[in-house]
Amino acid sequence: MRARALTSRRVAAWLAAAATLVLPIARCVQAAGSGPSAGAVSARVTRPLRTRNVILVTVDGLRIQELFTGMDPIVAQKEKRSGIYDLERTRKRFWRDTPEERRAALLPYFWGTLAPQGIVLGDKWKGSSVHPKNPLLFSAPGYMEILTGQYQPDVVSNDVKRYPHSTVLEFVRRELGLGRRQVATIGSWEGFATLSSSEEGAFFTNAGYERIPADMATARMAWLGDLQFEIMALWEEGRSDAVTFNLAVEYLKTQRPRLLYIALGESDDWAHARRYDRLLDYINVFDAYLKTLWETVQSLDGYSGRTTLIVTTDHGRGITPADWVEHDEGIEGSADIWIAVIGPDTPDRGEVAPYPTVHQADVAATLLRFFGLNPGAFNAEAGPPIPAALQADSAP
Ligand SMILES: [Zn+2]
Repeated sequence: MRARALTSRRVAAWLAAAATLVLPIARCVQAAGSGPSAGAVSARVTRPLRTRNVILVTVDGLRIQELFTGMDPIVAQKEKRSGIYDLERTRKRFWRDTPEERRAALLPYFWGTLAPQGIVLGDKWKGSSVHPKNPLLFSAPGYMEILTGQYQPDVVSNDVKRYPHSTVLEFVRRELGLGRRQVATIGSWEGFATLSSSEEGAFFTNAGYERIPADMATARMAWLGDLQFEIMALWEEGRSDAVTFNLAVEYLKTQRPRLLYIALGESDDWAHARRYDRLLDYINVFDAYLKTLWETVQSLDGYSGRTTLIVTTDHGRGITPADWVEHDEGIEGSADIWIAVIGPDTPDRGEVAPYPTVHQADVAATLLRFFGLNPGAFNAEAGPPIPAALQADSAP
């Protein structure tokens, strides 16, 4: 997440957004018992599900090009413009003859183990598109859309500030009567704390350069707390994802949250720095994070076989050798995102394509469905659950 000063551009983007509020709709029939048509809505959906816990992971600005096709020949062929320092090394690590081989080299655990246990949407070349509804296509509007289920037109900058919009994290805690530590956001940028809830202290957050409070910190958490100030992260806005991720795993093991949001950012950082080699290295590290996370989940009582993982991104980015480093309204490719859902209530389909277009705004309702909660009771304006994500909702 690069907090850049683009005020005039953002105002222009906002005005454009106000003029285009009518969006084309191309999606499956909404799941029964959910959504704004439900009238006097009950918060609960009665259908029993196996999911007890949900872990939401976001990885900032990770493009569909890398996720679905691995090392991108369009970017990589221009050595100077890609910023690849040692092309031979990078090609050896990540270049293969076909897109399927390249993505397996870059994200071996995601494609080899996770995807077959769930669904992945967003491969537009195969007819599956995922788009934000917000037209701004930078971080804060995207995260707010994910967490509130709709485009929030008042979020027009990456300034760290709290908004009055209720989030799924707050809603789940309230509806399920959970303790303050049973819902948590752990993120690399301090903005994740304020974007996560409309009220300060609504649940546990640890975001940006922040230590875990001494009364709950394990020795490892305390050590990571020190280490975050020693690791020179690429930009000053956020701490290393290695700290964030490892704190989150330790939190999972010791605090046993029912809903955990892990918000990572280095994918965006290395891209903005125009270092395609380091971006690929990072994505490969991110894949290892997913392996550690999912193996930890399957090792814990109450989590094994009872946890759904949702992984997505806030925005895409440019597609040319010049502009793959950037993203925003007007940069082609910035609206192409993806979502993966893995867990006991999701069909084992891997990549689902072709598939009707879904939106970033649909993530919130999808998450709530796994808790048996009615998205319409959360936010009548929220996008619908993604039918393919739930066995109970998807076509036979
Ligand atoms: Zn960015």
